[in-house]
Amino acid sequence: MRVRIWGARGSVPAPGPEMNRYGGNTSCVELTLSNGETLILDAGTGIRTLGFSLPPDLPRINILLTHLHLDHIQGLMFFPPCFRAESNIRIFGPSSPEASLESRIARYISAPLSPVEVRELPCDVSFHDAPPTEWQIGSATIRAEAVTHRGPTLGYRITDGDTTLCYIPDHEPGLGADLSKLSEEWISGYNLARDADLLIHDCQYTDEEYPGHEGWGHSPITEAVTFARRVGARRTLLFHHDPLHTDGFLDDLHRSARRAWQDLGGDPEQIGIAAERAELNVGAPASEAPARPRIAV
Ligand SMILES: [Zn+2]
Ligand SMILES: [Zn+2]
Repeated sequence: MRVRIWGARGSVPAPGPEMNRYGGNTSCVELTLSNGETLILDAGTGIRTLGFSLPPDLPRINILLTHLHLDHIQGLMFFPPCFRAESNIRIFGPSSPEASLESRIARYISAPLSPVEVRELPCDVSFHDAPPTEWQIGSATIRAEAVTHRGPTLGYRITDGDTTLCYIPDHEPGLGADLSKLSEEWISGYNLARDADLLIHDCQYTDEEYPGHEGWGHSPITEAVTFARRVGARRTLLFHHDPLHTDGFLDDLHRSARRAWQDLGGDPEQIGIAAERAELNVGAPASEAPARPRIAV
């Protein structure tokens, strides 16, 4: 499975020269499966540049939304394949008793917030509640479960062959409780992330910042690494960077997280931090996937 980060920021885009290395675009991760199929995790502003890199003849694009906060859907209206008649786009997201996924997303892609309506998009787009049981896309088996955040929010577990990736970008699993002492069944996201080869997880705050943000739905360093340790993640990528956190600040945050992981008995090399345009392979490389020209932006 090949992973490309197109947006690692949380809450709101944060461009600027002091953000260049980690990037200012909001949540968007591209997965290339072993059968060559593309899965896109969230549609933050990073999906716009991702869209330019996709070949126009891609038979199908799958987008898995964790939730509908703006930092996870804002790029959808600027996703180039949405404006091509030949595109086939399937969007999965959390269900709600209140309204369908399409009509909830249409609150954003409609007047007065948008110059176009969903029904005017020339592409073939369909909206699906994430199934309550495992389902298949290409070579991947996917499981979605509700996790602790503000509003209905999913985490995803994606297994391709014997490789598993877990994506929980917005998550406050302890909510003030000590995660190291909670029993497994009380830890939000435990079954999704268990033994994952790569866990992409919220780490919006330092421990010093967290007391002013408890209950906002995001993790401080200690909570993120303790969660990773409890679930037995083999590698972790810290994600959903606060818009106030500059490159230098995130370097320090990364060092602190590696120390915290080491204190829990882990190898610090297992803790990475997401940077825009970073690429990594998880498990066997997606060798069947055709190489794609890199875009110059
Ligand atoms: Zn978010
Ligand atoms: Zn959120």
